[in-house]
Amino acid sequence: MTTSATFPAATAGDSRPCNRCKEHEGIIDLRGAERVCQSCFAYYVSTKAVKRLEVLQRETAAPRSSNGPKGPRKPQRYLVALSCGPSSTALLHVLTENVRQQRARGQKTARFEYVAAHVVDDTLSPFSSSEDSTIDAYRERFPDAPLLTFPLSSALSLPSIDWVALPSASNDLPPAQRLSSILHQLPSATSRADIRRLLTRHVLISTAQSQHCDALLLGHSTTSLAELTLTETAKGRGYSLPWLVNDGAVPVPRSPNAPNISNGNSGDSTEPSTSPSQSLPVYSPLRELFRKELLTYLSQTTPPLTDLVPASSTDAGGAVVSHRDQSIDDVLSRYFGEVEASYPSVVANVVRTTGKLRRPGETGQAGGDDGQTCGLCGMGLDELGDERWRGEIGDRIETEAQGGMPKLCYGCERSTRG
Ligand SMILES: [Zn+2]
Ligand SMILES: [Zn+2]
Repeated sequence: MTTSATFPAATAGDSRPCNRCKEHEGIIDLRGAERVCQSCFAYYVSTKAVKRLEVLQRETAAPRSSNGPKGPRKPQRYLVALSCGPSSTALLHVLTENVRQQRARGQKTARFEYVAAHVVDDTLSPFSSSEDSTIDAYRERFPDAPLLTFPLSSALSLPSIDWVALPSASNDLPPAQRLSSILHQLPSATSRADIRRLLTRHVLISTAQSQHCDALLLGHSTTSLAELTLTETAKGRGYSLPWLVNDGAVPVPRSPNAPNISNGNSGDSTEPSTSPSQSLPVYSPLRELFRKELLTYLSQTTPPLTDLVPASSTDAGGAVVSHRDQSIDDVLSRYFGEVEASYPSVVANVVRTTGKLRRPGETGQAGGDDGQTCGLCGMGLDELGDERWRGEIGDRIETEAQGGMPKLCYGCERSTRG
């Protein structure tokens, strides 16, 4: 039982009961319509997330085994992408609480199990030891969830990325320095942020497969999805928006036909004998919650999770370290932090509009109209659409100049060649 004294009263002398339970004091404004207590607010957040998980389970449930007696369904296994920002921390907490409640109700097997994965950007120097202590703190706070970490440079050995498309770096360098050198040769801060995000996604998708997960869960809020929509559009990735923003199966990048020249040990025989599935469900269970609601959620847990999340990421707009290094992503993140405060419906509308975009083919298979995929992001190539983009932006790159280069979508081409 909590006492209302633990929480700041909304306005002094204006004590009202919670609109939902009528039992506790209402201390949190819910979308300007209701004032609720701490536990009703937590219930509101977790219900939104659990509803999305139910959609995921409905859309991806494997048929019950046809031979043998009908047993209970095997729980789905999720990979939670943990950036240690507010949204993914809230997601991890919601899942943990949900499993705990299922057990408390006497359910022997939970409806799902999960593993968390954090991709450490090992190209950033000087290497910060604060990253290690952050991860330790998460492990302590979430003892039920195995928390795996992977260096970003592990992407160098993934066969799903066509490294020929990126600047080259000496094979003699250790992976972290090699990737750092590759990123530094990219034309701009926006390019670097873009390629970092792509590589992180590749590492997560590959981890979901190696960990035998049925789906990858991202911590996107309505706010971050709106940011993603506009940044990706600005970068010329409009075509892949339905896969990046909407829930559903995304094509899993296949290894390019060329041998993996970037990997020093490509001679070993660790190739799996069975090919992994060609699509992976990627869902954002918090997509109907605003970032500020997730920040409130973090501040209301016991003890508050706000202390766990690195301070720079709880600032609504994200802290600007240096303007020189500001990417389109940073600019829009700050912009939406401000818009969300005054015009939440604008933010929600950006995401809702993207939700209406169709995914051509809708098969979850990689490949555009003719089965061609981009060598970097793995999305289907829309040659006509990409041509149109170029034409309208007045930015035609002569194709003859690309002899031997892998085919890239317009967005990836911009990121690698400026
Ligand atoms: Zn209540
Ligand atoms: Zn691409």
